[in-house]
Amino acid sequence: MPNTNPQFIPFTRPSFNQETIDAVSEVLRSGWVTSGPKLAEFEATLSAYFGGRPVRCFANGTATMKIALQVAGIGAGDEVITTPISWVATSNVILGVGAKPVFVDIDPITRNIDLNKVAAAITPNTRAIMPVYLAGLPVNMDQLYALAKQYKLRIIEDAAQAFGSQWQGKKIGSFGDLVSFSFQANKNLTTVEGGCLVLNNAEEAKLAEKFRLQGLTRQGMDGMDVDVLGGKDNFTDVNAVIGLQQLKQLPAYQTRRTALARQYFDAIRTQLKSAGLENLRLELPLENFNDSNWHMFQVVLPLDQLQVDRAQVMTELKDLGIGTGVHYPAITDFTLYKNQGYKTSDTPVAQRIGRSILTLPLFPAMQDEDIGRIASGLVRILKKHHKN
Ligand SMILES: *Cc1c(COP(=O)(O)O)cnc(C)c1O
Repeated sequence: MPNTNPQFIPFTRPSFNQETIDAVSEVLRSGWVTSGPKLAEFEATLSAYFGGRPVRCFANGTATMKIALQVAGIGAGDEVITTPISWVATSNVILGVGAKPVFVDIDPITRNIDLNKVAAAITPNTRAIMPVYLAGLPVNMDQLYALAKQYKLRIIEDAAQAFGSQWQGKKIGSFGDLVSFSFQANKNLTTVEGGCLVLNNAEEAKLAEKFRLQGLTRQGMDGMDVDVLGGKDNFTDVNAVIGLQQLKQLPAYQTRRTALARQYFDAIRTQLKSAGLENLRLELPLENFNDSNWHMFQVVLPLDQLQVDRAQVMTELKDLGIGTGVHYPAITDFTLYKNQGYKTSDTPVAQRIGRSILTLPLFPAMQDEDIGRIASGLVRILKKHHKN
């Protein structure tokens, strides 16, 4: 349940303008509310945004990634290399198609999969790598696609958090193999729920359409046939008009997120200094203002230097009216995964970061003053519980 205290700063909050509300009303009044002309318009607009590559939309990011795996023909007996520090959807979809997730440890600086450790995890059954761009920071795309080429692997990018992120001036999604985005309410561009997949060609797009709707081959009502096992993962015109409006607002959102992230670096460093806590290891994010879309601003708490755990820090921040989140505990710490024999101790960096990472509030509607309040609140709490 959302906190209704007006002074409370949640860790994220979507922004919708009046134009968006009007566009939704118009669809609701039009008599056609599910997948239709607005979906086609949104997909065409996204395709243009991604430099002309085909794009198809789905009910959510999870369905988008599942269909990406299906389009790539990944299933029973196949292994997919991924990261343990992600939303559990990433590996759930791998299990869902009958394949096996293989977790490679993360890089402590980027908090993304450590591409230098991928080669050692490749077996004859490896079919794909599924990297995640945590907080919107991409991996080294040159290195990723060099691995794909060398080992003849598919790449399914879990770019759920990376809409608007870039690599060397090119938008994530405008190049590469299969690239999956989420439009869930917390994401930088939201359609309330939804997702989109950027594909390589018209054939893949056709296949994705079939998986999206019961495997129907679209040949008019009389010629209806089903030739693959599809689901019900279609995207509606109501969601599509929200997405079209959000795309118009995205540049302004991005400017605001970037400005707020810059303020965080300044404010946290200033507060640590004035509290005499220069030696506290509060791993700030990589200061990458070219590539990241600043989906989140995360610190890693120095639990070995504190007398309290992360939950206590979060509770005390909440008492100050500051919402935080954990993105994410290592997937291998979940019972489902433990029961399959996965051990988080096999990925020690992910183990440490999964237990101590903390997401601070960051969303376009935040005020400049909020950053100062959050930074001073956080540093005050850390000082109180510092072991010295
Ligand atoms: C949001 C998210 C997803 C899933 O997207 P949904 O739209 O919620 O299904 C998958 N992976 C990552 C990294 C995400 O952040």
